[in-house]
Amino acid sequence: MGEPDAKGRRRAEMIPGSETIIECDAVIVAFGFQPNPPEWFKDFDIQVNDWNGVIASDKSLYPFQTTNPKIFSGGDMVRGSSLVVEAIAEGRAAGEGILDFLDV
Ligand SMILES: Cc1cc2nc3c(=O)[nH]c(=O)nc-3n(C[C@H](O)[C@H](O)[C@H](O)COP(=O)(O)OP(=O)(O)OC[C@H]3O[C@@H](n4cnc5c(N)ncnc54)[C@H](O)[C@@H]3O)c2cc1C
Repeated sequence: MGEPDAKGRRRAEMIPGSETIIECDAVIVAFGFQPNPPEWFKDFDIQVNDWNGVIASDKSLYPFQTTNPKIFSGGDMVRGSSLVVEAIAEGRAAGEGILDFLDV
């Protein structure tokens, strides 16, 4: 980490010559903050917005119902990168939405 800036925040800095090359057959990027909707969403009319988030809302008649009425979605795939507690709350709200939709 570099020296603290004006706000006291230290940032990672490159150390020239410290790079390492690792031979490998495949690289799987297993981190990130962007939704990656699969192709089959189209087959089931699950629509996404301009940043690939699933279109669903807590304000809907049935909270977190997607554009396919039988499919509900919440969490990072709807809201964008957020917190675990938000995902849990939306999962619970979606569960309530499903029960209302099924009228049980
Ligand atoms: C690096 C990083 C650090 C973070 N740190 C914090 C933190 O300190 N505190 C905090 O509160 N939050 C943190 N978050 C955010 C938190 O992890 C997310 O907000 C939360 O996990 C979102 O929950 P989710 O259920 O919406 O999505 P996810 O937790 O991403 O769950 C989605 C699940 O669906 C699975 N899946 C995807 N596609 C398919 C498929 N086709 N079929 C079956 N399963 C599938 C995935 O494998 C995954 O298990 C962090 C996130 C990242 C990336």
